[in-house]
Amino acid sequence: MISNQERYHQYMYSYPHKTAYRQLARPVPLAAVAAALADCSELYLHIPFCSSKCGFCNLFSVAGSTELLEDYIDAVAKQAESIAQVAVPRPKSFTVGGGTPLVLSAGQLERLFTSVQEAFSLDLKSLQSCIETSPKETSPEKLDILKAYQIQRISLGVQSFWPEELAALKRHHTLQDVERALGLLKNYHFPLLNLDLIYGIPGQTRETWHKSLDRAVDYAPEEIFIYPLYIREHKTLDRHQPEMAPFYELARDFLIANGYEQKSMRRFSKDGGKSASCGFENMLALGCGGRSYLGGFHTCVPYSDRSAYIRQSIADFIAAPEIRAFTHGIYLSQEEQSRRFVMKNLFVAAGVSLLEYAESFAAELLMDFPRLLEWEAAGYVYREEGKLKLTTAGMGLSDYLAPQLISQEVTRLSKKWCDPWRT
Ligand code: SF4
Repeated sequence: MISNQERYHQYMYSYPHKTAYRQLARPVPLAAVAAALADCSELYLHIPFCSSKCGFCNLFSVAGSTELLEDYIDAVAKQAESIAQVAVPRPKSFTVGGGTPLVLSAGQLERLFTSVQEAFSLDLKSLQSCIETSPKETSPEKLDILKAYQIQRISLGVQSFWPEELAALKRHHTLQDVERALGLLKNYHFPLLNLDLIYGIPGQTRETWHKSLDRAVDYAPEEIFIYPLYIREHKTLDRHQPEMAPFYELARDFLIANGYEQKSMRRFSKDGGKSASCGFENMLALGCGGRSYLGGFHTCVPYSDRSAYIRQSIADFIAAPEIRAFTHGIYLSQEEQSRRFVMKNLFVAAGVSLLEYAESFAAELLMDFPRLLEWEAAGYVYREEGKLKLTTAGMGLSDYLAPQLISQEVTRLSKKWCDPWRT
């Protein structure tokens, strides 16, 4: 029997986690990774600001500080220009995340997009694009800008349709904010609307969860993400439901019955799988706090979830945004890259191709990962058309299974990680 704690062990939205990154013995000059920069298929822009901090959130963002937004946009422009002197990426997709990107005003959004376009001689309209927003920050003026730039996917953090549950999450929007934002978004007809919901909230019942799902489906979004509530150290929210699996199962069955396909433990989609991926492709991150994945080299400013440290990082970035060399990150060995490959592919519906693995790593998947044979025997994975895929049971156990693929070295580094806020 797998306990709730084991089942909800860790969300592997990328690999390895930033806690495994370290100060590099020698800074990596931009020129040394010019080819990888030019090869980035994704461009990510991190906006580390929110109007308030949710009780569960350990993302690299701070509440308030909106007086810094103009300087932050200037800094992003300078950062992009400094990179463009060495390599000009030709991404296929463009994602703006955070934080809450729409804390930016309409004018600031436009200035930000223009700066990135000019620095890289890009036409953002030609890219697959995605932006996150929250109910309070969604306004017609901002949506006009997103329409003008032909942003395709808008993700709205609804979390719950119950005021008591929003209050429990310390999420500072109201049901009226949600309904107003959804009404607006539906009128703008973006190609893909995603709604985020959370289960496991203190006080949430099967009935309230069912009702939240029902309300979400009423708005006919192309995509719904359901997130289990994780409790993070130092955060103001200190508990969740003791058993979260029944909430997951209720949602999975409900969404499938309503025509959604399950794409991962969290993602349910009606769009035929066209959603932009984020977290595993070669990616250049602009701004402060986003990760760049440059082939086998991953880089980011030192991770912390403490506001004081994040504020200092943002201030440092604004003061000196030009990049000449990367100073913090991790090099992935071939073995770590193979782990990343399996995590990227196995924990989504498409599954991991045995042939693709063999071609990428000149090795056999099941020889490298005998644990997968154990999972097959346990009924968590199965083989189909040359791929290994999660069963229904395995999909629901993604946060239990995926962390088992973390290497000993990455586990060691993450355990020894010391919050830079303390140093
Ligand atoms: S969950 Fe989203 S809106 Fe809430 S603090 Fe974190 S980044 Fe900001």
